[in-house]
Amino acid sequence: MNRMAIGPYPSFSWSYSRNSSFNGCLREYYYNYYGYHFGWSKNADPEIQRIYRLKKLNSLYMVFGNAVQELTFHAFNYWSREGRLPTIDQLESFLRKELNKAVADSRNKAAFIRTPKKVLMLHESYYNEELPIDTIKTRINCCTLNFLRSKSVQEIINNTEKIELVEVDNPKEFSEPITFKGEQLFAIPDLLYKKGDKWIVVDWKTGKEDDDHVQQIYLYVLYVHYRYGIDVENIEARIEYLLYGTNKDVDVYEEEVEWMEKKMSESINSMKNYLEDPVDNKPKHMESFQASPSSFKCKTCNFREVCVESIV
Ligand code: SF4
Repeated sequence: MNRMAIGPYPSFSWSYSRNSSFNGCLREYYYNYYGYHFGWSKNADPEIQRIYRLKKLNSLYMVFGNAVQELTFHAFNYWSREGRLPTIDQLESFLRKELNKAVADSRNKAAFIRTPKKVLMLHESYYNEELPIDTIKTRINCCTLNFLRSKSVQEIINNTEKIELVEVDNPKEFSEPITFKGEQLFAIPDLLYKKGDKWIVVDWKTGKEDDDHVQQIYLYVLYVHYRYGIDVENIEARIEYLLYGTNKDVDVYEEEVEWMEKKMSESINSMKNYLEDPVDNKPKHMESFQASPSSFKCKTCNFREVCVESIV
């Protein structure tokens, strides 16, 4: 693991989620990518400590998505070790344990405030909102079942050709970025495997279908192309919708990857317009990051407690 030394400002790296934050509300982007820096230190300004804590909040849907991703990591490890997949009961039990822990941890706000890095806090619990427990309970069963039945899992376990698992992402572990035009880029796919000469990149989704998902998969293809030097024509891309038990094979050609590269370059340039010093990644004053409040955005925003522009 090669972590960079901590400087006076956070290091710059591009990711799809950073781009979404930038295009959503610039003030939220400021808090999320700059305002929190050094808030983990006991000597930091209390307001910066508060922003750092708020950055750590996760909605129950996000915790569920991460738990499913972690489940896939453990399931493939089990398969490599035992030669078979875990049962649906084992998988459901894993998910229930993770989610119960998240809900239990979230009851202890004092512990979270003392040690936000160690104690998980749900956004809904922090802001005294109802947790979508019933919705999540129904998703536990269908996502585990659909994972076991998914095209990707079936292809891997019932292979007639040689299959090699190249990457299975574990959200609890640090992932190495790649370098794109001198910038760090985080675009780690959930699953990458080889079938003969083909490289197959898979994105597990636990929510509804969205046009954004196709753009995200372009990014994963670009990642495989850059990290492993694989021709785009030898990479296949697939989105697995675990909530519905469906999948979408996405055709990605050179022109989609070039389109994604252009989009990333434009996004990076736009982000750098908000820097006072691009070398150190020193941001302009917070007031330069204009707030775009809306009832939906502010309600789901982690930073509404500190944001004077919040409308909820
Ligand atoms: S509370 Fe609303 S206006 Fe403030 S940062 Fe969040 S989304 Fe933007």
